[in-house]
Amino acid sequence: MAKERKTEKRGLRRRMLPLCALLFAAALLLALDARHVRFYLSGPRDLELPVGSEYAEPGCRAVSAGSLFGELGPELHVTAEGAVDGQTLGVYTRTYTARWLLWEGRAERRVYVVDRTPPVITLTHREGYAPSWLDGYEEEGFRAADNIDGEVTAQVERVYLGDRVEYSVSDAAGNRTTVTRQIPYSVGRPRIRPVGGERLRLPASFSFTDPGWTAFDDMGNDLTELVRVEGAVDPTRPGVYELRYAVENRAGDEVSFTRIVEIVPAELPESVTPEEKTIYLSFDDGPGPHTAQLLDVLKAYGVKATFFVTCRYPDYLDMVGRAFREGHSIGVHSASHDYYGIYASEEAFYEDFKACEEMIHAQTGQYTTLFRFPGGSSNTVSSFNEGIMTRLTKSMNAMGYQYFDWNVDSDDAGKTRTIQGVVQNVENGCQGKDCCLVLQHDVKDYSVAAVRQLIEWGLENGYRFAALDMTSPPAHHEPAN
Ligand code: ZN
Repeated sequence: MAKERKTEKRGLRRRMLPLCALLFAAALLLALDARHVRFYLSGPRDLELPVGSEYAEPGCRAVSAGSLFGELGPELHVTAEGAVDGQTLGVYTRTYTARWLLWEGRAERRVYVVDRTPPVITLTHREGYAPSWLDGYEEEGFRAADNIDGEVTAQVERVYLGDRVEYSVSDAAGNRTTVTRQIPYSVGRPRIRPVGGERLRLPASFSFTDPGWTAFDDMGNDLTELVRVEGAVDPTRPGVYELRYAVENRAGDEVSFTRIVEIVPAELPESVTPEEKTIYLSFDDGPGPHTAQLLDVLKAYGVKATFFVTCRYPDYLDMVGRAFREGHSIGVHSASHDYYGIYASEEAFYEDFKACEEMIHAQTGQYTTLFRFPGGSSNTVSSFNEGIMTRLTKSMNAMGYQYFDWNVDSDDAGKTRTIQGVVQNVENGCQGKDCCLVLQHDVKDYSVAAVRQLIEWGLENGYRFAALDMTSPPAHHEPAN
């Protein structure tokens, strides 16, 4: 019995063994094959759908696939799930499922329901409306509507660009639309034309007068009076200035023109130091009661001098004419000689200077370009107005005037009050100098009385006497303010 059973068992084992091996081999093959479900999506994996449209399934196929045996037919049945609402913005997921024996596979597709449609702007036109540029454009009306957001008229941005209006609006999805209205002006923007050209080149001077401008529109309407001018020119100071001419209409639109004004400094003649020993006598602050006597002495010696005159003694102003006719040089000193008045500002200085200049012109028939600053260019009496001498020396030279200081001071307006004192100061001052510019005041009787002796001393010492002109050495001091 036991032997029989043993034999039976052995027979069964003999039959089972190949079957197990077969199953094992099959499982091994399947594992190596890595069988799975493979999907083929028609259309893109991420799909964009304009809002308002119906979703149409592009389709999806599935097969079983493995690495050893490849794809095995037939095609598998695919179930698609996940609804897409084409009327509502959002992201939707479509899920595809298919099964092969024990293996189940899954694929997904994203569907983006989006708004790509910008709002629509509609412009209204008013019958019979003919705008003119000057009055500005009066809005005729507009509406804006969006497929999703509905009415968006209130969000419209308007930009007025003179000859047109731009209307823009965006919907919530960021779609923007812009429309342009060309304004049918019956009368258009004017044109500004500067009289005298767009660039002026002028010599430095006391005053600048704008040569003017015109402004006409294309219908010939004159808008000249509506032009505003911005900017300023300082004609006393060389430089480049800008003047802006503009007309603005009621809507704030502007037409403008910019003119360049260049102020050019005068070219002063070069000063020449005379070869001969020379004394330039110069007399400030007159004419006054002693000027006639002085002119007599100068005439007796045939000596020419220079007078830097004022308007302080009106009874003697005719002496300016006489001095001029007798060959002396006339220069401006000051009309008022009031330090605090004339150095208060450049304008004040120019006003005083021009008054004196006009007086000289009235007396001599000529304008002069020679002058002497009250107190000289190195005065400190003007220090209450910081830097004014530095500015004035520059601007006066730029305007073609030459100022003269001195290198010999008679001190007749200082402590020296005698004829002998004046003579001594001048003689000492001229020591070692071949070119002497002497400062005296013809309103001081002792100074005038010293002139005869000074001339004789000068002639004995080899000097000639001369009147100043634009080429004479100006004996400039260093401005101290
Ligand atoms: Zn003076």
